[in-house]
Formats: sequence, C-alpha cells, structure tokens
Amino acid sequence: MKVQSDVNIGLVGHVDHGKTTLTKALSGVWTDTHSEETKRGISIRLGYADIEFRKCPNCEEPLCYTTKEVCEHCGSETELIKKVSFVDAPGHETLMATMLSGAAIMDGAVLVIAANEECPQPQTKEHLMALDVIGVKDVVVVQNKVDIVPRERAIESYKEIKEFVKGTCAEDAPIIPVSAQQGANIDILIKAIDETIVTPEKDLDKPARMHVARSFDINKPGSHPDKIKGGVIGGSLTQGTLKIGDTIEIRPGINVKENKQNKWISLSSEIIGLQAGGEAVEEVGPGGLIGVATKLDPALTKADSLSGSVAGMEGTLPDVLHSFDMKTELLERVVGTKEERDVDPIKLKELLMINCGTTTTVGIVTSVKKNISVDLKLPVCADKGDRVALSRRVGARWRLIGFGIIQ
Ligand code: GDP
Ligand code: MG
Repeated sequence: MKVQSDVNIGLVGHVDHGKTTLTKALSGVWTDTHSEETKRGISIRLGYADIEFRKCPNCEEPLCYTTKEVCEHCGSETELIKKVSFVDAPGHETLMATMLSGAAIMDGAVLVIAANEECPQPQTKEHLMALDVIGVKDVVVVQNKVDIVPRERAIESYKEIKEFVKGTCAEDAPIIPVSAQQGANIDILIKAIDETIVTPEKDLDKPARMHVARSFDINKPGSHPDKIKGGVIGGSLTQGTLKIGDTIEIRPGINVKENKQNKWISLSSEIIGLQAGGEAVEEVGPGGLIGVATKLDPALTKADSLSGSVAGMEGTLPDVLHSFDMKTELLERVVGTKEERDVDPIKLKELLMINCGTTTTVGIVTSVKKNISVDLKLPVCADKGDRVALSRRVGARWRLIGFGIIQ
C-alpha cells in the first residue's frame, strides 16, 4: 500500500479566519492535541495532517468528493484519488518566518479568508505576497464562515477577494464559499483543490534532498539509557529517495565552540527508521512530510535544533554558505501593516531576514553594487540559483520586502 502523500499543501491566512477548523473539517483529526500526538507518534509533531481525497463511484459531482472511506450519501465504498499533506506553519501563526519556511515545502496553498471581515486583512495580504514571492503558484481561496453572513455580504466579500487577488499568483484561483465549522461545501473544495494544485513531478533519480522543518528528541524524560532512541528529523524530500540503512549527512548541522571560535559541523548518521503518512515505511520519496529516525544523540536534534538544515546522501549536498551575492527583486509596497509604505532600496550595513529553504537567518548587507552581498549570522546550505525571501525590520516586526536569487 502506498502511504506517502502526493502533494503538500500549505494552509495560510489571517488569524482566526478558520485554518484549524478547516483542517478538522477535512480530516476529522488535528495535530496539536496530546492524545493524538502519542497515538500517531512523530507525524503529529511535524505540524501537519494527512488527508485522503476520495471519490464515490456512484454519486454525481460534486457530491462524490469526500475524505471518508464510506460515502455519506449512498453508503458505497469510496476510491482514493490522492493523498494530501496539509502543512500548518509551525509555531505562532502570525510569524512570517515560519510561514516562509513552510513555503519551501509547499506544492500549493489554500488561502483562507473569512467572509465576515473586510478583505484584505493585514495577514491575508502578507501571506498572499509571501506565496507570490516564494513562487507558490497553485492557490485555492476558501471564502470561509459563509454561515454567519447574509447573502449580500457574501457577494460583497467575493468581490473584495476578486479585487484583492488581481495581479497575484491567485488571480485565477477558484474562490470556494465554505463553512468549515458546519462542514458545508467541503466536497466542492476537495474538487477544486484536486483540480488546481498540481501533483509535482517526482525526480526519484536525483540525489535525495530533504529540507528539515523540525527535529526532536522523542524520548520521555528519565528514560533508561538502554532505551534511549536516536534523534529524529522531520521534513520533506524535494527529490530522490531515502531508505533504512542509508547514511545521511545533515548540513549546516550544528554550531560548536572550538578555541572560542564558532564553527559549524555537519552531522552524519545511519537511517534506522522512516515514517510517512503516519506509518513506518522502508523507503521514502518526495511528497508529504516524513520523519527520519537516526542514530544521532537526541541532544543534537531536540527542540528543532536542526530545522533549516538540509539532509541527503554524503557528498551530494550543496555547499554551506556563510555569505553570498544575490540579484534582488523588491516589492513596491511593504504589506502586512494597516498603513502601507513604499519599499526603500536595500542599504549598506542594513540587517535583512533571509528565508532560504526551511532556514531562517539574518544577513548584514556588505555591498549594494550590481548585486546585493550579505554576510550571514547562520549559514545556509543552498545552491546557486536558489530563491530566498527577504524581510526588513519595520517598526517591531520583520516585513517581507522581496526576494533574491543566489548568484
Ligand atoms: P485559525 O486561527 O485560522 O486557525 O482559525 P480557527 O480555525 O481557530 O477559527 C477561529 C474561530 O472561528 C473559531 O472560534 C472557530 O470556531 C470559528 N470558525 C471557523 N470556521 C468557521 C465557520 O465556517 N463558521 C463559523 N461560524 N465560525 C467558524
Ligand atoms: Mg489555527
């Protein structure tokens, strides 16, 4: 049986617009309760829900679309169309950095917009800009909470959304009116996601490249030394495969002090367990979030210490960069605040927050000639040509200002 997801979908949108409720409506489970966590192990700790899109062979469209094994309308057994991982940006949801990090492993996104509030709210706009900047192309818009607005407001909200998405990656995105709380129109939403968010080509022959989104120590405090389990990393493969017994390298790895000098050392370990779709497997490929159990000392992996690293077979990973040059493209306006302002050019010596893959780092600008050069506080493991998101401090927060391409 194939357990791994075909596609990773990010859930984004303003706080309280219904992302968590929507995931519940789709999956019947959600990720942050403790009992679920113990039941399903590490998959839960990755902050995602695996959902099956299914179709009833006897019912007509769109009634046939469901996530259940038995059709609610006719009782027939339903057929699997595809497996989908919904990625909820880990941590505090208004934190742009976590959203941008998650964007690196999203094949598409569902933008949730509540119909009872004027559109766009600041984070609605900020998240859509982020999808645009990071290059996520396939978007479905959910117009949520239609159960609590009158018909006129629903139409007005639809018009606001249509106007708002003009000129962005969501310009032609379907807008599906939904009540996540009442479970209304979920079938139509499944159909729209299925048709809009393209399952990526999986390049299994290239060397494995895993973006680490989380890392942890799965041992209970006070475990007997004989029973201690090795460190676990979670994330997603963008290419290649990994199997039990492979030796992987993790870069940049960890920071150590040597003769009062900070130094980064990559880690190597054998894979002793793999998890995908909530099940133990022998081999994994791209698609969905995966958990990789290693022989590493769990102290090295606890508390997301390796998030942002890249893992793959030894000798196949990109270089670790402590500085780089980039060509940049800036947004016209800073978004995410009530009053928007123009984006000023990048200045010498200014600090930028840089999101590269699942890494969040800070860079100090050392040159603003043809390209922008930065020295990084935390190094990144990245290739030339990779796209990075750039944010600058505006008031008390980092605000997205554009992107760069590593030269
Ligand atoms: P999140 O911050 O985007 O994850 O939003 P939540 O899913 O936590 O939802 C915020 C609040 O809106 C909760 O009180 C939900 O019960 C409520 N809510 C979510 N979806 C709907 C909906 O479709 N209709 C109504 N009436 N309330 C909803
Ligand atoms: Mg939530």
